[in-house]
Amino acid sequence: MQTPASFEYERATSVEGAIASLARLGPEARVIAGGHSLLPMMKLRLAQPEHLIDINPLEPELSYIRDQGGEIAIGALTRHVDLLKSELLAEHFPVFRDAEEVIADPVVRNRGTIGGSLCQADPAEDLSAVCTAVKAKAVIRGPSGQRVVPMDQFHVAPYATAVGDGELLTEVRLPLFLGAGSAHEKVERRAGDWAIAAVSAAVWVDRATIHDVGIGLSAVGLTTIHLKRAEELLRGQPPSEELFEQAATIASEDCSPMADGRGPVDYKRHLAGVLTKRALSRATARALKQEA
Ligand SMILES: Cc1cc2nc3c(=O)[nH]c(=O)nc-3n(C[C@H](O)[C@H](O)[C@H](O)COP(=O)(O)OP(=O)(O)OC[C@H]3O[C@@H](n4cnc5c(N)ncnc54)[C@H](O)[C@@H]3O)c2cc1C
Repeated sequence: MQTPASFEYERATSVEGAIASLARLGPEARVIAGGHSLLPMMKLRLAQPEHLIDINPLEPELSYIRDQGGEIAIGALTRHVDLLKSELLAEHFPVFRDAEEVIADPVVRNRGTIGGSLCQADPAEDLSAVCTAVKAKAVIRGPSGQRVVPMDQFHVAPYATAVGDGELLTEVRLPLFLGAGSAHEKVERRAGDWAIAAVSAAVWVDRATIHDVGIGLSAVGLTTIHLKRAEELLRGQPPSEELFEQAATIASEDCSPMADGRGPVDYKRHLAGVLTKRALSRATARALKQEA
């Protein structure tokens, strides 16, 4: 059985305290949330933090999903299961429920958090595609205060984000607009597995045209892919299956999958296209309240 290298453990008692500990202990310190990504990496010795700062005691402060006028705010320690069950999210951003229904299993969903998912920045992470599509903003706090980073600047490299040493992701904000619909489509080898390919789409329809659109792709590149070229094509156009077919072609062209145990490159490119079209169609049907 694999075991992690030895480490010091402390329980955070406040957000400021966790940030102070991170600043004091330096790059060898990591926060632990659900532990479903960090602990397996520690067991495999792919991560060997010398200090773990457990932020679970901050649940009262960092676990919430609330409407704060013009946007929905989600605390970083909010568990997958709470995202799955949230009626507020299901009403405004059903893409979260779509994704949560196919992320791992109840054991992982009961502990894993949105903050851990985004900060892990695994290229196959479903919630990174979701947050890219809905144009989420990440609230990051550190020793010098708070900054808000748009999701398209959040993922900087595989397993690396805009959250720096000594900083904590505290909240994810989702801007609310009328006429929004969203959907997540995923193909996996078996129930609860990581994606072979997954696509999130959000479509904002105003007077029968696509006012704005967001598309995020998982598992078909070195990081989550923000499909900007397809978004430009769609913006300002009346929605149609032909248009979504063109966006699907761009998705197949603009992704950069690698061959692995989940499939060859051509198959993954094909899936990226098919899933983009499906996600756009379903998101639009939801925006127009036409979903069967
Ligand atoms: C068997 C299994 C199957 C899975 N299947 C899927 C799947 O299909 N799709 C999917 O998307 N995910 C899947 N996951 C991953 C799961 O969603 C994890 O819960 C998630 O990736 C990490 O969340 P966590 O809260 O457990 O983070 P942790 O493991 O605690 O932390 C992950 C990283 O984020 C950092 N971190 C955590 N919180 C913060 C914060 N607030 N601020 C700054 N840094 C922070 C940690 O220091 C660490 O580096 C699976 C995991 C397992 C074990």
